[in-house]
Amino acid sequence: MPDVFADLVGQDEAVTELRRAAAAAAAVLRAGAVDRAPVLIPAGDAADAPAGDAPTGGVDPAAGMTHAWIFTGPPGSGRSVAARAFAAALQCVHGTGCGECQGCRTTMGGTHADVRLVVPEGLSIGVNEMRALVLRAASTPSGGRWQVVIIEDADRLTEAAGNALLKAIEEPPPRTVFLLCAPSTHPDDISVTIRSRCRVIPLRQPPATAVAEVLVRRDGVAPDVAQWAAAAAQGHVGRARRLARDPEARKRREAVLAVPRRLTGVGAAFDAASALIEAAEAEAAASVTEADAAERAALETALGAGGTGRGASGAIRGAAGQLKELEKRQKSRATRAQRDALDRALVDLAGFYRDALTMALRAPVAPVHTDTAALAGAGAQKWDAEGALRRLEAVLACRAAIESNVKPRIAVEAMMLALWKG
Ligand SMILES: [Zn+2]
Repeated sequence: MPDVFADLVGQDEAVTELRRAAAAAAAVLRAGAVDRAPVLIPAGDAADAPAGDAPTGGVDPAAGMTHAWIFTGPPGSGRSVAARAFAAALQCVHGTGCGECQGCRTTMGGTHADVRLVVPEGLSIGVNEMRALVLRAASTPSGGRWQVVIIEDADRLTEAAGNALLKAIEEPPPRTVFLLCAPSTHPDDISVTIRSRCRVIPLRQPPATAVAEVLVRRDGVAPDVAQWAAAAAQGHVGRARRLARDPEARKRREAVLAVPRRLTGVGAAFDAASALIEAAEAEAAASVTEADAAERAALETALGAGGTGRGASGAIRGAAGQLKELEKRQKSRATRAQRDALDRALVDLAGFYRDALTMALRAPVAPVHTDTAALAGAGAQKWDAEGALRRLEAVLACRAAIESNVKPRIAVEAMMLALWKG
């Protein structure tokens, strides 16, 4: 039986540190009397050390447990997988993350009473959500171990929500552990003050061979398909899994990779831009429509829609406000889903021009997209390294523009024109 860290692909150093911390946390619980709060070493001291000076064990106090952590790494590197595995190890009755005990299984299954997971669905995590969370996290763990709060995409905290979280991290309840996930510790992603209170676990982009291995072992994917998917997903474990198992995801990727071939003129460039935007919208709609309808139905049932009689008109006024609030939340989630879908497409496209560039340079590296390698080779001959690099930069500029809130259609049209003209 693999333990809870088994799915954390290609992150040996991080796993070693998390195992050590889980063991230290178990020792804290054993040492602390029932009525005495366990003592955690604050992360602040460790954070003051120069960058890259990772704790190496021995008598280093930073090798122990602390109450606030940030998992950083590129998308798909396994930030939330790492946070969840660590949460399980903290709740594990053996303190190891055995994968078999009640604590491990319920945490991994998402049903542990003392593990709260915040997954922002919209563009940001609001202050009300955060305050409620902080309040609940302060209660005594029902399982007798730790209250664990996992915040996925902590870079999407609003400033007010960040402040609410900071306050909790600065004066932590004795048995509460915060696990934050963010792309990096850059101030744009996580505030300097929060970062200074947390220990950082940097994750790297896992190598394709490690990703392929986990697809075969965990998901039963055939080895050749796993290898192709791992390379095509560029180290993104979840994306590799989708490509290996979901024909729709494969079809969308093929459509994106057909773009370079289609750019034969100005009109074609605008057509390609429209197609890319619409595909992202369709993909996003498919992913959120079901959840939207279910949420609305649940809310309407809870509000007793269709009810008559005394007090019904007051209830309807309140219900209208709640429905409006729900619609707002759903709209925000749909926007996020569209941006994510578009970003996946742009990453695939960037991979294509990266392949053309490496071929033009005759660099001895494997292509990202083995199935369009011939096409990338033809591009390399036609454009030379400089032309391939300009096109790659156009794709990256489009991603950056969308990230900084340029309207996606405008950014994509500009990119397509740049890709066509070269
Ligand atoms: Zn366990």
